[in-house]
Amino acid sequence: MAIRKVRELGDEVLRKRCKEVPKMTIRNKILINDMLDTMYEEGGVGLAAPQVGILKQIVVIDIGDGPIVLINPKIVEESGEQTGDEGCLSVPGKAGTVTRPYYVKVRAQNEDMEEIEIEGEELLARAICHEVDHLEGRMYVELVEGELHDVEYGEEE
Ligand code: ZN
Repeated sequence: MAIRKVRELGDEVLRKRCKEVPKMTIRNKILINDMLDTMYEEGGVGLAAPQVGILKQIVVIDIGDGPIVLINPKIVEESGEQTGDEGCLSVPGKAGTVTRPYYVKVRAQNEDMEEIEIEGEELLARAICHEVDHLEGRMYVELVEGELHDVEYGEEE
């Protein structure tokens, strides 16, 4: 188990675009396992590689139904709308109101580089959009309606 340091808002690495992952390597496997460990340790529902300082298109998500690993994810369908609170491990102790699609379909590769498609609604759709944004160097704070507000420890995504 290895916990990596989560980069925080203001760190330049969070503003950069990530590179595609061409193949699975031992190094990438270790990164994915460390990202999962870090997400669980920090109490998040998702984590993107740039949040641990690595500019690769890898995200991990777990909204409570088990881990999802998305490599080179692309959102191929979205519909509806939801408006709610969103947070980020890179913006500790804060949350803000963000409007996202209610439903998304994402195409990606899994840890074995097999093509997968995942559909998500509500929190899962929100988490997918949030994490895919990280890979493009986008932070949710740019989308917040109104002001960020403080949250109790453990509530942020
Ligand atoms: Zn985030």
